[in-house]
Amino acid sequence: MPAQRITVLGATGSIGVSTLDVVARHPDLYQIFALTAHQQIDKLFEQCQRFCPQYAVLSTADLAAQLQTRLRDAGLATVVLYGPQALCDVASANECDTVMAAIVGAAGLPASLAAAKAGKRVLLANKESLVMSGRLFMDAIARSGSALLPIDSEHNAIFQCLPGGYGRKLEHGGIAKIILTASGGPFLKRALDTLDAVTPEQAVAHPNWVMGRKISVDSATMMNKGLEVIEAHWLFGAPADKIDVLIHPQSVVHSMVSYVDGSVMAQLGNPDMRTPIAYGLAFPERIDSGVEALDLTKFAQLHFEKPDFARFPCLRLAYEALRAGGSAPTILNAANEIAVEAFLGGRLGFRRIENLIEETMNAVGNEAVDSLDAILASDGKARQIAISILSQWSQ
Ligand code: NAD
Ligand code: MG
Repeated sequence: MPAQRITVLGATGSIGVSTLDVVARHPDLYQIFALTAHQQIDKLFEQCQRFCPQYAVLSTADLAAQLQTRLRDAGLATVVLYGPQALCDVASANECDTVMAAIVGAAGLPASLAAAKAGKRVLLANKESLVMSGRLFMDAIARSGSALLPIDSEHNAIFQCLPGGYGRKLEHGGIAKIILTASGGPFLKRALDTLDAVTPEQAVAHPNWVMGRKISVDSATMMNKGLEVIEAHWLFGAPADKIDVLIHPQSVVHSMVSYVDGSVMAQLGNPDMRTPIAYGLAFPERIDSGVEALDLTKFAQLHFEKPDFARFPCLRLAYEALRAGGSAPTILNAANEIAVEAFLGGRLGFRRIENLIEETMNAVGNEAVDSLDAILASDGKARQIAISILSQWSQ
């Protein structure tokens, strides 16, 4: 079989680096077609030297010109492009078979969607794009006949626990519930009245996973799980009341599917994203991911508990957005991105993240969003309103 040719969107991030680690273990199976990054030129340069892609993409013309010069001086033929259209181009090019969608946030939507429309095998890590554009994205996948493989560890686990050939109608598969596990993040047991004072460094110090800064803050607020509830809705055709969240601090059970006959299927493994990435790359085969075998004797116990919505109001807001439909999930996501950025920049207290999201959702009208332009317009409006609320608060 010819090697799969892969575009890695967000190659320099946590998921991108793990993807390249798995790819490097199987040079006979995978080749890199294109690598993209926002501004991390040094890291992208090193990755280009190692994987010799046909294309590299950065966000600005200036950075792209710098990288092009360095690559030429190093004797590499990689062509460097820049900007959002270039991301879409390398995600939909004829020479590419598979796209790892691992840009963080709404910035990843146009290129993820371009890959879906072009019929690529889409390995979806960029959950925000599905939260924003669920119906449009799933329709594009269905229309183009793309294979969509969830990389988010919970959704990958559920995908593995569903019956083969599952067709997005829970009752057809005898499925009673989808159960997403959540670690609860670094503040699961912290006294509520001390949460105001937590710093960005404390919030990004996740107990089990090493991830990018934005998703790490989302894990601390549990907005990450909220986004994942919406993601599960679209991926698996499950209504909000069929998706439960269970806190499981050890992050060994990555999620579960509960069936009407009382069976519960779970997928277990060490918390290392190379497992779902390898699964997505090789499906329906299995390949070595570099992840150690799970040793259950190392765990004295596996603990599960219900989430407390008073401690984690962002999870409640996400369920509300899913039930409201229309542009509500897009607004939720946009306000969250603004809030997290402000928190990481020291401009917003940790507990104000939820306030900013809720106020923005109340202030922006919910509307039907049936095109990429409508979704991006709603995203832009929500960002503007979130920023103006934030600036009123800081006066
Ligand atoms: P990260 O911050 O480590 O990396 C993000 C990547 O996106 C980088 O390569 C960066 O250069 C690129 N990028 C950022 N802004 C961009 C922009 N405006 N334009 C173009 N490129 C841009 O993030 P991550 O932790 O790797 O997460 C990536 C995605 O995968 C997120 O959607 C996240 O929710 C999801 N995810 C991550 C993990 C994990 O373990 N890290 C697990 C599940 C899902
Ligand atoms: Mg996850």
